[in-house]
Amino acid sequence: MPTTFGGPRVLLRRLREVMAQPTSPQDKLDRIVVLIASNMVAEVCSIYVQRDDKALELFATEGLNREAVHLTTMKAGEGLVGLIAKEAEALALSDAQSHPSFSYRPETGEEIYRSFLGVPILRAGATLGVLVVQNTATRTYTDEEMEALQTVSMVLAELIAQGGMQALAAPGLGAQTRPIHGKGVSLADGVGLGHVVLHEPRVVIKNLIAESPEAEVKRLEAAIGELRKTIDELIARGDVSHGGEHKEVLETFRMFAHDQGWLRRMREAVLSGLTAEAAVERVQSDTRARMLRQTDPYLRERLHDLEDLANRLLHILVGADLTISKDQLPDNAIIVARSMGPAALLDYDRSRLRGLVLEEGGPTSHVAIVARALGIPAVSEIENVTAQVEQGDAIIVDGASGEVQIRPQPDVENVYKEKARLRARRQEQYRKLRDEPAVTRDGQAIDLKLNAGLLVDLPHLEETGANGIGLFRTELQFMVAARMPTTAEQQALYKAALDMVGDKPVTFRTLDIGGDKILPYMRRVEEENPALGWRAIRIGLDRPGLLRAQLRALLRAGAGRELKIMFPMIATVDEFIRARTIVQRELAHIDRHDRDRPSGLSLGVMVEVPSLLFEIDEIAREADFLSVGSNDLMQFLFAADRENRLVADRFDPLSAGALRALKCIADAGHSAQCPVTVCGEMGGRPIEAMALIALGFRSLSMTASSVGPVKAMVLKLDASAAAGYVERLLRDVSGVATLRGALKAFAHDHDVPI
Ligand code: PEP
Ligand code: MG
Repeated sequence: MPTTFGGPRVLLRRLREVMAQPTSPQDKLDRIVVLIASNMVAEVCSIYVQRDDKALELFATEGLNREAVHLTTMKAGEGLVGLIAKEAEALALSDAQSHPSFSYRPETGEEIYRSFLGVPILRAGATLGVLVVQNTATRTYTDEEMEALQTVSMVLAELIAQGGMQALAAPGLGAQTRPIHGKGVSLADGVGLGHVVLHEPRVVIKNLIAESPEAEVKRLEAAIGELRKTIDELIARGDVSHGGEHKEVLETFRMFAHDQGWLRRMREAVLSGLTAEAAVERVQSDTRARMLRQTDPYLRERLHDLEDLANRLLHILVGADLTISKDQLPDNAIIVARSMGPAALLDYDRSRLRGLVLEEGGPTSHVAIVARALGIPAVSEIENVTAQVEQGDAIIVDGASGEVQIRPQPDVENVYKEKARLRARRQEQYRKLRDEPAVTRDGQAIDLKLNAGLLVDLPHLEETGANGIGLFRTELQFMVAARMPTTAEQQALYKAALDMVGDKPVTFRTLDIGGDKILPYMRRVEEENPALGWRAIRIGLDRPGLLRAQLRALLRAGAGRELKIMFPMIATVDEFIRARTIVQRELAHIDRHDRDRPSGLSLGVMVEVPSLLFEIDEIAREADFLSVGSNDLMQFLFAADRENRLVADRFDPLSAGALRALKCIADAGHSAQCPVTVCGEMGGRPIEAMALIALGFRSLSMTASSVGPVKAMVLKLDASAAAGYVERLLRDVSGVATLRGALKAFAHDHDVPI
């Protein structure tokens, strides 16, 4: 090819002229391919548009047979065009026909063209089509040419997505208009129907082609300067509350804001003829495509940071506000975000929230905990969802199955409406059980309590009729805060909690941080195995300052009342005794200052580290009560990370090994007359709760939404029949992975709803 390549600047100017003409969209595309072909001195230029079924339809061509337009389609992944769309990556070949993916289409007459350059037409990370140029001669396309074609494809993307081009498309075409079904991971139960509110709204760029590239370079430089300034200010202020970001992220942002490669690519894009904002998006689009292909979680995270930064830059350039103001929040809002901190979720008006959809965040992430506390259906791991929705799109979240329906068809919507109605009816039935005591058919009273950690949890006590708070996770206050809560703030929360529950008991658990529970403002210790590392009571005993301050806050909040405190992750009796000594010292401190003590104080132990099973009689004698943390106990018992989806469900807590371990805790409690509760998730699932009652547990603590279903089960259960059944099962079982099937059969035969 001769070196008369005009560069994108000229081409972009011509494109703008074509776009301004009052012609049909097809006519515009037909002119555009001619323009591109002549500008790039290529014999062929074709535009393929991706349809609903992911097939790529030839929409316009210069050089190939015109009859093939709207006739030639490549299936998803088929041919070179399919490959480019699938990989979202450009491809340059000097001899296309020798490429294994080459797929010959006789109707196009392309057999005479040897070299091939194709780029994806991307918008917000989604592939809308493919733009191709071809030449008869065997030639190598330069990087410059590839860049130019990518820049042009970006303009095309906006035209296809936003302009009248969509009218051209086969019915339902366009990633942003068709219904999408996504399956991810459930974070919080419930069904929510509503409209998309993007947590970080995307900027829609209308002005893509620069009038004066020199002026655009200046705009870009100014925006970068402002971006750096805001980040520096945030870091200097130590203000970590801004959108839940913390210092480490800001430091990374600062590093990227000075990244020469990133800045250079944006400048080049501006010089090629784009406006400053279009240039940012052009580079961002590459980053997104790279991110989707990146499997290394660390690098993916960094690319996400870079994308966030580009977003900020876009907002500066377009002058849009980053956050949706509270009064702009529609009723029935379903928040869609890449990821989110717990504080950011709490910032939204609860009464308008109907659901949460995230690209990233596990079931034990802080935001998931808050979503459950607020009773908002939430789903995570919906890949690239932020790019697939527009502000205000209809969306449904099914927190039970982990599914989302974006822009659902009316029949799908009706199914979910019915599901929501059914749920509401079931909830109504559970509400009717609210004042009924949880007593089994054979007269065994079962104490049902709630797990909580935030004040928003506490109204559930009234709604469910639970007997108290069996587990108050005090770390949640620390996790949603922007900085370490002071002793006075802790005391205020504990007192508010005690005041809200009235005379029902609350069991406060001291800080269970470390492991997966990271405090953004605390220096992070790099550990190979954080779950087995420096966490919970281990930090409390090694750095008693923090524990002491918390105990002081608890003892003061509990002045004149019954107070229950328990310690997490106790692995030996000795650890409990040391923790108790710290409490005694704090009591002496209270006496010295003539303050009121709690009227009664019970000190308990979480049984969640297997070593304690072998000191269970001693700990049951020493502690005032025990509480089984089955989430951690199972993780350690089976050596299966509760966060790791590959192994988290591999072992069943209803297997013989797990049930025997649990039984030994129940038995030890009975012998020592030490009350025992189960406060892990297991106690909130009816069939598992049934097994626990059969093993001898009489107290269970769970999330609010579990109280109704568990109580319904209890009311139909004959505890002694179940105990006999489980005892026989455990005696006779051999080589069976789980007793779940047998327990289900028992429930079925005895009409126990599980
Ligand atoms: C548990 O481990 O079962 C528990 C209740 O505590 P957490 O889930 O907070 O670790
Ligand atoms: Mg635990």
